[in-house]
Amino acid sequence: MALSGSLLLRRGAMRRCPVCGQGHLFRRWFLMESACPGCGLVFRRAPGHWLGSWFLNVLVVQSVLVAGISVVVALTWPARLNAWSIGLVVAVALSVPALFFPFSRTIWTAIDLVMRPLDFDDGVDPGVELSQLPPGGPRPRGRPWERSSPSPDSPGRHDPRESGGSR
Ligand SMILES: [Zn+2]
Repeated sequence: MALSGSLLLRRGAMRRCPVCGQGHLFRRWFLMESACPGCGLVFRRAPGHWLGSWFLNVLVVQSVLVAGISVVVALTWPARLNAWSIGLVVAVALSVPALFFPFSRTIWTAIDLVMRPLDFDDGVDPGVELSQLPPGGPRPRGRPWERSSPSPDSPGRHDPRESGGSR
């Protein structure tokens, strides 16, 4: 995968496809396209893929609530929380998860791509990835532990510079 983790996360944070930067990934606020219209990335990369975005959403809501309650308590101490404060907390607890929902999905997709780089069955057009390769040509494909060692059925390969050539 040629894309840097920071670029993937920045695109995800802007509700864009992490792979190609395409926007308009949501038909409605809560209704995401199943695949990116720009590059073809299938967003649900594995069964249970969106559990990560739910976790991300819960994390953000909890953080906002803890920070907000801390500020309210610090400002009103030693008075007890009144109905307005409790109403504000409830409003935040209900609105933040809804507002953050699409961001949680694209950010999670970016995080997942950082942890598990693109594979052939992700649906991405190979041309999209090749067009974003850094100067100097493509990186060797395959898992690092598979491409570093010479295969045992190819005798006479002692020069490591020759590995990675044609089979
Ligand atoms: Zn895309």
